[in-house]
Amino acid sequence: MGFLYVPPFRIQGISIAGEETVVQVPELGLCFDIGRCPKPVLTSDYVALSHGHMDHSAGLAYYFSHRHFQGMGVGTVVCHPALEKPIHNVMRAWVDLEAQLTPYKVIPLAPDQELEIKNHVFLRAFATAHTVPALGFVVLERRSKLREDLVGLPQEKLLQLKNRGEAITRTIEYPLVCYTGDTAWGPHFDRPDVLSSKILITECTFLERGHRDRAAMGKHLHLNDIVELVKRSSAEAIVLMHLSLRTPVGDATQIIRESIPPDHHDRVLVLMDSRANRRRYEQQVKSAGQSRQTDPLA
Ligand SMILES: [Zn+2]
Ligand SMILES: [Zn+2]
Repeated sequence: MGFLYVPPFRIQGISIAGEETVVQVPELGLCFDIGRCPKPVLTSDYVALSHGHMDHSAGLAYYFSHRHFQGMGVGTVVCHPALEKPIHNVMRAWVDLEAQLTPYKVIPLAPDQELEIKNHVFLRAFATAHTVPALGFVVLERRSKLREDLVGLPQEKLLQLKNRGEAITRTIEYPLVCYTGDTAWGPHFDRPDVLSSKILITECTFLERGHRDRAAMGKHLHLNDIVELVKRSSAEAIVLMHLSLRTPVGDATQIIRESIPPDHHDRVLVLMDSRANRRRYEQQVKSAGQSRQTDPLA
């Protein structure tokens, strides 16, 4: 499995174009797509399914079944409304095959609808552009904060206002993780929640200079799109996935680095580049150790 640590989140999974895509964020109890359901992702209470292509959805029945066997509670898939019925059909077919009932839950989410997955944490769907009905997702945290014009006022004054019925707080949204799934370029790459997400996980299926047409035909992104996206996004980490097997991952990382302006290199990461990611993680552990040594309170 690919592994990245972007505090406080771990991003782990497998993603190879046409083979398998599953990306888990354990801290959110969530995985994006299910691929062939590698064992570690069973711990996710929710699967946010971007679309129905086999490389993203094959492990769904296995996920439901093994959660049940291991007493982990009923698994839930969140999907495009067009996929609700096909998923029920697949699960009905498994009842006939296995002669037993597997409990599962399907929650359809239309573009721009939300589902609360943890206290104050919401999964929001957004429309993308692929060859089949497809969604991207933003996980956001919503917190209420004191109204800016009231900051610094004494407690009793605030209480007075509150008792008078005035709203003294405002709600702020913090986009934490965005996952685009398989998608072509489109207006979703203008969305503030996508562009301001702390972590942006997106596909990069085509790298080669002559493959723009192939990317457009399969409704996928090309490295040129990523170069544009890197300039627009304020993400701390842009995680590239769904790379093709045509190019070995080390070479792919090299090609990506040559296309991205150097001042963005640190925040563009390739999920499946284990060697580079291990080096990055060792560095993170080392600097965490050093700051602990210099900070007597830590
Ligand atoms: Zn795919
Ligand atoms: Zn696809």
